Amino acid sequence: MRDQSRERVRLVILPPPDFHEQGLAAKAYMDAGNLVPDSVILGIMKEVLASPSAQKGAILDGVVRTVPQAEGLAVMLAELGRKVDSFLLFEIDDDELIRRLSGRTVCENCQTPYSGREPGTACDKCGGKLVRRRDDEPEAIRQRLKVYREQTEPVIRWAKEHKMKIDRIDASGDRDEITERAMKAFTE
Ligand SMILES: [Zn+2]
Repeated sequence: MRDQSRERVRLVILPPPDFHEQGLAAKAYMDAGNLVPDSVILGIMKEVLASPSAQKGAILDGVVRTVPQAEGLAVMLAELGRKVDSFLLFEIDDDELIRRLSGRTVCENCQTPYSGREPGTACDKCGGKLVRRRDDEPEAIRQRLKVYREQTEPVIRWAKEHKMKIDRIDASGDRDEITERAMKAFTE
């Protein structure tokens, strides 16, 4: 989520594993389109959630992705005297998802992300070469969707069974529209 949204909800956003100490281990799994092991994910979450910047709350972006992770998170939050307020479920067609992901590139030099730019073209900021992230290659995307159905979708059933709040968000349309719908879910 962008800085503007971060400002509006005043919450810390868990950084993606690539930016973290334990990230190198996590990144190898992600590059192959596979899920990062629960122990690595829970270790990263605990570190961030126990930090002073997360005391008002946190948005966990991209986690939890398996039922064991969800169970681990619930135990960890109980230990910290906290709970999950809501799951935001972004709903989108597979075709649209594949179109978006395969249209993403990143500068191999300065890591600036782009969408709708061909791999091999030059970065506007530094002139570096734009490349597709390995986990956005079509084969890795198909693998990610398969892993999602097998391991992540069950988290939704798990949350329902535990009477947790689930906000379904229509993720079609542009980024501003989707952000607006997500922000509405936060303030309800
Ligand atoms: Zn660049």
